[in-house]
Amino acid sequence: MKETGGLEAVRAADSPRDLGGMGHPALLHYDAVRRLFVESGLPPEPETYELFWLHVTGADPALSRALEAQLTAGGLDAEGVKELRRRHLGDIAAAEVLALLEATQASATHLAGRLERGHEELKAYDAEIAAGDEALAVARGVTELAQMVERLRRANAVMMAANRRLEGDIGAARLETGRLLERLDTAERAARTDPLTGLPNRRGILDALKKATREALDGGQPLAVGLADIDHFKRMNDRWGHNIGDEVLRCVATHLQAHAKRTAGDGALAGRHGGEEFLVMLPGLGLAEAAAALDSARAILARQVLRKADDGQVLGRVSFSAGVALLRAGDSVEGLVDRADAALYGAKRAGRDRVQPENPPKGPSGRGLPGSGHGLRR
Ligand code: GH3
Ligand code: MG
Ligand code: MG
Repeated sequence: MKETGGLEAVRAADSPRDLGGMGHPALLHYDAVRRLFVESGLPPEPETYELFWLHVTGADPALSRALEAQLTAGGLDAEGVKELRRRHLGDIAAAEVLALLEATQASATHLAGRLERGHEELKAYDAEIAAGDEALAVARGVTELAQMVERLRRANAVMMAANRRLEGDIGAARLETGRLLERLDTAERAARTDPLTGLPNRRGILDALKKATREALDGGQPLAVGLADIDHFKRMNDRWGHNIGDEVLRCVATHLQAHAKRTAGDGALAGRHGGEEFLVMLPGLGLAEAAAALDSARAILARQVLRKADDGQVLGRVSFSAGVALLRAGDSVEGLVDRADAALYGAKRAGRDRVQPENPPKGPSGRGLPGSGHGLRR
């Protein structure tokens, strides 16, 4: 079966409703997802739906391979769904989160108990001091005074020892809390990072984009988004094998990230949106500037001849196509990315190896707004 997951088996005629005489892609995907639910017998839950959707749209071929392997090997159950989500979507396993929460709770309970004991010790010390005060008021002889001083000295020694124990316990609790926070931080970072390229994964880059969108709208600054998809990548995999394909992905990822930061500063960020597609976030850049920045990244890459590191064998050139969209007032992240995706589709249709800005929004006159975007042609 094709790696883009089950799609080959779905024909336009199978779609529940034909839009405009053609199988609408989303309906074809929907139909394929429905079949997967029927085939697997899994309940139609959102987590499973998302997994199937990514599979049938071919957004994550590694996920598709793993999912198909499971289906072929005798079916997919709820545990299988969880494991696939954990490995491919970066979900932190519920058990892991529970273990961390339990450890944190145990540590907090222990510390609270310890503080309570410290409080009791302090109360006992206070009582000793108060008793000493009373005795002092009625004390007469030197012997009596010496006995009192000795009592207070002992109470003091007991209190100091208790304090030292408490300090030690608090120090240990602080260390333990630090370790737990570190583990939580590592789990959280792993959930947002693509292990192959080291870039943020889909979840990571979309979260970052959500934050950048809020900041740009609040600060009245532009924010451009590019979606770059490697051209004819499947051919490259077929010809050179999956490992070389992985190397090419790493190379393009590093190049896009470095170039984005060079042109738009430290706030710029590239992430792996899925498969051989990258999302590049360019804060502070207008549509034309962002398209030019991506186009220069494209040109630099396309000029390079890639070789295998071990034997120097020539692999050829790699290019990508990209679509660019600019944040508008009232935009959602999904809307913004969809427009970049539509522009990317345009770039592919126009012949690949090019960058296509989105169509400018229509002004009240029905014509494009001034200064928004232009087509980039090679
Ligand atoms: P187009 O120019 O239209 O984008 O063609 P394409 O071949 O790049 O696109 P298509 O969607 O047909 O194929 C994408 C390929 O990307 C298929 C899949 O095997 C490959 N791919 C996706 N993720 C990975 C990965 O992690 N490693 C490797 N080696 N290949 C991957
Ligand atoms: Mg491609
Ligand atoms: Mg693609």
